[in-house]
Amino acid sequence: MVALGVAAVGHGETKVTGGRFWHGPDKTRMVFDISAVTTFQAFVLMSPDRFVIDIDNTILDGGLPEPKGDTSPVTGVRTGQPESGVLRVVLDLKRPVKYQVFVLEPNSPYPYRLVVDLFEADQSVVKPMPELTTREDDYLVIIDPGHGGEDPGAIGKKGTLEKTVALGIARRLKRIINHDGRMRAQLTRNGDYYVTLRGRVRLAMSLKADAFISIHADAARRRSARGSSIYVLSQRGASSEMGKWLAKRENAADLAGGVDIGEQDPGLQKALLDMGIDWKIKESKILAARILGELKKAGQVHSKKVEEAGFAVLKSVDIPAVLVETGFITNANEEKALTTALHQERIAGVIFRGLDLYCDQDPRCPPVNQKRSLYEVRQGDSLSLIAVRVGSTVEKIRALNNLPSDVLRIGQKLRIPSS
Ligand SMILES: [Zn+2]
Repeated sequence: MVALGVAAVGHGETKVTGGRFWHGPDKTRMVFDISAVTTFQAFVLMSPDRFVIDIDNTILDGGLPEPKGDTSPVTGVRTGQPESGVLRVVLDLKRPVKYQVFVLEPNSPYPYRLVVDLFEADQSVVKPMPELTTREDDYLVIIDPGHGGEDPGAIGKKGTLEKTVALGIARRLKRIINHDGRMRAQLTRNGDYYVTLRGRVRLAMSLKADAFISIHADAARRRSARGSSIYVLSQRGASSEMGKWLAKRENAADLAGGVDIGEQDPGLQKALLDMGIDWKIKESKILAARILGELKKAGQVHSKKVEEAGFAVLKSVDIPAVLVETGFITNANEEKALTTALHQERIAGVIFRGLDLYCDQDPRCPPVNQKRSLYEVRQGDSLSLIAVRVGSTVEKIRALNNLPSDVLRIGQKLRIPSS
């Protein structure tokens, strides 16, 4: 099969100025930055397996990346010039792939991008994303680290990326929830690749999840803006200018992260219109209020009330859903804090406690099944991490347990102060 691509043709020569690989569980994506749109032909060859794209009227004006990820089908990248003015890029493959090629419009700070998605031809190679086995009666929480891959989200002055912070906090939250055992948690992405907003929602729906928490970090032109905020879906428009602006930015993730035409589905929401949206909004507000309460106890909040805005990712799920802006990546102090293990763990702990309080009043949620006052030390724990996670201090935990030092051993039981 040969794919022919046409978009508006630019004047003069198109330049490929760079490229990136992103490797996710269901596809490997290669992105070329291009100075103007042009025509191309893509095809695959066998024995050995290769993917070839000929880009017309184009020269290479920058380096192309090496493939990454052991499980990626791509082993090498080569370029050539089969005829004058044509840039050929060959991807050497370990195994056959199916492919899709499309052009993304410029979306600040990105120029035009030519996107190549490679899917496994043999689906048995694809590992199912839900690595966690859940039982029918589990209370399943979907944790959604915002952005990823081609979409960095907000960017701090020191170069901190929202996608990295969000994944860090989300992984910690998942670990806390699953270790505690009352609820179960699953991530919508567990690496640096983009999952479409629709893909995130689809995961929650297919797993019949009970709650959805999207993790983000905020951005503002005003560098002094700081603190965390929590949002639920609004049916009437945003509760503040900030929320309106934020929802616009977050909803644009697909433009940055890359969704081809085939994946867009304006009809997705239809099914939800009459599916108890009032219940969902009411429950989302309660969940948000519980988390906000814990955020207030733990530190600076940007907004003292639960905010509302039209987030696409919240709109499409039929379960209680909130979006946490964990701090301002555009604030120098918060940017620094958001990159640290201690602060990420603190925020994850705060969200967990809010979620747990919500769980207490949700008849769908099981009771606490272990003694929370006694904690068993795990791999990777430290006294300071445990302290921030449970909202206490190293001194209090040391005193309560008569600890002579900060040294812990795996399996050690610690008494945890009640908060
Ligand atoms: Zn975001």
